[in-house]
Amino acid sequence: PARINSKGWDLTHQPTLDTIDKARAPLQNASFTAGPLTSLEPKYPRRRQESSFPVINPAQPDDIVGQVTPATPDDVADALAGAAIWTADYTTRAAVLRKAADALEKDADTLFALLAREAGKTLPDAVAELREAVDFLRYYATQATADMQARGLWTCISPWNFPLAIFLGQVSAALAAGNAVIAKPAEQTPLLAFRAVQILHDAGVPVAALQLLPGGGDVGAALTADARINGVAFTGSTATALKIRASMATHCAPGTPLIAETGGLNAMIVDSTALPEHAVRDIVNGAFRSAGQRCSALRCLYVQSDIADKLMTMLKGAMDELTVGDPWHLSTDLGPVIDAAAHETIAEHIAQARSDGRILHQISAPATGHFIAPTVIRVQGIAQMTREIFGPVLHVATFEARDLDRVIDDINAMGYGLTFGLHTRIDDRVQTVVERIEAGNIYVNRDQIGAVVGSQPFGGEGLSGTGPKAGGPHYLPRFVAPEPAQTSG
Ligand code: GLU
Repeated sequence: PARINSKGWDLTHQPTLDTIDKARAPLQNASFTAGPLTSLEPKYPRRRQESSFPVINPAQPDDIVGQVTPATPDDVADALAGAAIWTADYTTRAAVLRKAADALEKDADTLFALLAREAGKTLPDAVAELREAVDFLRYYATQATADMQARGLWTCISPWNFPLAIFLGQVSAALAAGNAVIAKPAEQTPLLAFRAVQILHDAGVPVAALQLLPGGGDVGAALTADARINGVAFTGSTATALKIRASMATHCAPGTPLIAETGGLNAMIVDSTALPEHAVRDIVNGAFRSAGQRCSALRCLYVQSDIADKLMTMLKGAMDELTVGDPWHLSTDLGPVIDAAAHETIAEHIAQARSDGRILHQISAPATGHFIAPTVIRVQGIAQMTREIFGPVLHVATFEARDLDRVIDDINAMGYGLTFGLHTRIDDRVQTVVERIEAGNIYVNRDQIGAVVGSQPFGGEGLSGTGPKAGGPHYLPRFVAPEPAQTSG
């Protein structure tokens, strides 16, 4: 039967989650491989299979998704020696990036399967992630211009929480400007990175302009400690960003740019004029979607005390409707956290709150696999939070109307500044709060995750990052060599 929406559009042939689910079904047991892709060795046959490791599905310990061969110091040396900037003219570079975007969309079934099995993503999250990845490619392709001069060789170090979108966002910006890239994907998600790089190579990106080195912190460290590196793009923890900066200061030429997107201790303020149903929907999304594994996620909620009881009752009810489980199933709202180490850190935090008697609500989660049950913890204020807890854990404080200014001061005093949310129906308040809050992305009367490439450039200030914002007009220019200084006389 025809599916006609309220605007009269015929959606009969648009894929639904059901049809996407059927298309990826044969890939539920497929096996994948990843390893170094460097220009100084044959393109795809793998060597040293004996030193490969299994990649395990975080939802199902008995599902081996594939095998990864991490880069050795020889591979790092090969990649550094073999890197060459992409000399094709800017129209060719843009055309190749667009061709790669089309090819990624054609490969959706496999990428969705990998996003679920390697990264623990639900299908709606996987669909959004592929959308964001191809948006980055097409957005930066439109920004390539004739007068652009590449800086040279970039190291791109990307996180597991957006193994396609952030990985390809960094890489495609560097490539659009004609740079050479050595990409070091997160240790947890090499299979997605490998597949994405193969797609870019097949679309026409030269191997010397895009090399891949899967591995851990040792590989990343080697790629930020070499005089041949002309820039580093990094998304991950604030602590690692500081180490990278120190290493670059020792080994790279002065002025070598570091673009770092790091953590956040993101707050939302809900005042007594907010519409509770609307606020609760956005709180649940912001705190628990993607199992809280977004750096944009809501960590600390401030509710005006007048409506706190009502809002908390509704929040608990909404949480009770959530299904935590294998992200492969369409009925799942939250998948696992990424690995055993993440699970342990988050579980310890919850256990401490439990022994302090501060758990306000918790639902259930499967015992097998790295699942964390969505949890709400009472805090006096954000100052009580000493670090970012990267999982489905929401901290809640109440405030009195007269203390709003102090709450804003407390949020700013944490030194992070990534996302912030505000729910209010007082227009003046929107203006005063937005003016005072120090955060890169501020959202009013909506959730605070899911920034859209091109229309919501994403990035923070302070401990949350260096800027420029990804998916915005200032990002690509950072990958371009500055104009030579004018000499007089
Ligand atoms: N851009 C993502 C968002 O708006 C977050 C990126 C991240 O978690 O690193 O939700």
